[in-house]
Amino acid sequence: MNLQRDRSAWLHGPEHRCQQPPPHVTQPRRIVLLGAPGVGKGTQAALLSAALGACHLSTGDIFRLARATSPRDLTPAMHVAIERMGRGELVSDETVLLIVRERLSCLTCRGGFLLDGFPRTVPQAAALDVLLQHAGVGIDAIISYELPEPEIIARIGGRRTCPLCKAVFHTQLRAPRRAGYCDTCGTELVLRDDDQPGAVHVRQNAYLESTAPLLAYYSNQGLLVHVSATGTPEEVFARSSLALATFFGS
Ligand code: AMP
Repeated sequence: MNLQRDRSAWLHGPEHRCQQPPPHVTQPRRIVLLGAPGVGKGTQAALLSAALGACHLSTGDIFRLARATSPRDLTPAMHVAIERMGRGELVSDETVLLIVRERLSCLTCRGGFLLDGFPRTVPQAAALDVLLQHAGVGIDAIISYELPEPEIIARIGGRRTCPLCKAVFHTQLRAPRRAGYCDTCGTELVLRDDDQPGAVHVRQNAYLESTAPLLAYYSNQGLLVHVSATGTPEEVFARSSLALATFFGS
């Protein structure tokens, strides 16, 4: 399966259609990825997407794409969202939920989904439950990626992102073949604004205050699968696959 599906309907909004239709999967999986910023959710989402056929749906990717759009074409709410993102703060639940509601077709897509970065607060999780219930689909599992904080900080410091195709690298742990350039499309890699040291601190605090309580929320629903995020992306992926197979009893 192709690692880089275009995800147009998710990234650009409901008036856009995905160029590549979702693959035919016998068992679509609807999975939420949780974990502190920098734990490697995006990398695992891309690997799991290739294995399961489900699209990698990141709300952070939507905001980063909006930031690259001409300011004239952005709504006032999106301007505020981008400013907050640059400082490492969470975007308001209202704005995030508006964006996700517009993309309901991605949540009901026959390929399933891998949500990365959403939900990030308990009100977002509750709203997602209502949305999915009305749409007649449910979440199959929540993977919680766990990593000690010093390792998280080291990972974020070395992380480099492709501004064009969104591929993620690390200067040591996942170095591109040509230093500083994307393996997939050749674009020069960047350190995201919100990976700069000041913003990282704000993001970690936002995680502890607003997102960590989701662990209790989903634990109560019996959906939580804990996975250690230590080691290489391939090791974490192997661990994730095994944990999911055990959880699903396959
Ligand atoms: P991420 O790529 O998931 O780390 O998201 C990057 C940034 O986008 C976050 O630091 C927030 O500013 C914003 N963001 C993304 N998803 C959400 C969300 N579900 N709730 C609030 N803010 C979000």
